[in-house]
Amino acid sequence: MTGAASSGQAPLFGMCHLAPAIGRLRLHAGLMGAGKSALAIQVAFHRRQAGRPGLLFTSLDRGHSGQLSSRLGIAAKAQEFDPETDFVEVVGESLPPRGFVIVDEAQFLTETQVEELALLVDEHAIDVDCFGLLTAFDSRTFPGSRRLVELADEILPLVEVLCWCGQPGRVNARIEEGKPVRSGDQVAFGDLSGDVGATYRVLCRRHWREGDPGPEYRD
Ligand SMILES: [Zn+2]
Repeated sequence: MTGAASSGQAPLFGMCHLAPAIGRLRLHAGLMGAGKSALAIQVAFHRRQAGRPGLLFTSLDRGHSGQLSSRLGIAAKAQEFDPETDFVEVVGESLPPRGFVIVDEAQFLTETQVEELALLVDEHAIDVDCFGLLTAFDSRTFPGSRRLVELADEILPLVEVLCWCGQPGRVNARIEEGKPVRSGDQVAFGDLSGDVGATYRVLCRRHWREGDPGPEYRD
C-alpha cells in the first residue's frame, strides 16, 4: 500500500493518510576512551550492509584528514567538517531520503549545524547519529553537545569509563604539569594520547575537584 505518496498522484481529499517518513536524531554521548569512533564505524557498516546510502563526518580526528579512526585500529572513509560546513547543502544535495548520516566528534558541531542536522531528519527523513563528548576539560558542556541534548530524539550512553580510583568517570580532565587545568579554550582538544601537547585523563568528580590525576602523576 504505497499508493498515492509514491506514484505521484494527488492524495485523496487533499490530505495524505500516510504518516510522513521521518528520521531520528540520536546523540551517543560518552567520555574520552568510551569507544565512540569504533561504534560510529560499526553503525555505518551495518547500515551499509542493509543497503542504505550514508555519509560519515568527523572533525580533527586522531587519524588522517578524511578518515574516521578508532584507537582500536579500525577506520572508515569520512568527510571532514568544520564550523563553516553547511550540512543541509552537503547532505541534502547528495543523499536520498532514508539515507543516514554519522557525525563523529560531534562536540565540535556549532549550534546552527545541530539545527541543520535536525532539519535533515525532519524534512529529508535522514537518520542522523552523532557521537561525541558531552563536556570539555572544564566540565562544561560543549555548545554543540548541549544543542544535541536539547533537540535529539534519543540520548544514548556509551560504555562507562572509570577514574583511576575505580569510581565512574565524570570529567575529561586535561592534565598539565601534573594537575587538571580548569579553564582555557574548549576546542584545543585532542586524543587521550596527548597528541596536541596536553594529556587527557578521565577523572571522577571528586578527583577532578581535588585536582588529583592519580598516583602515576605523584613523585
Ligand atoms: Zn576518582
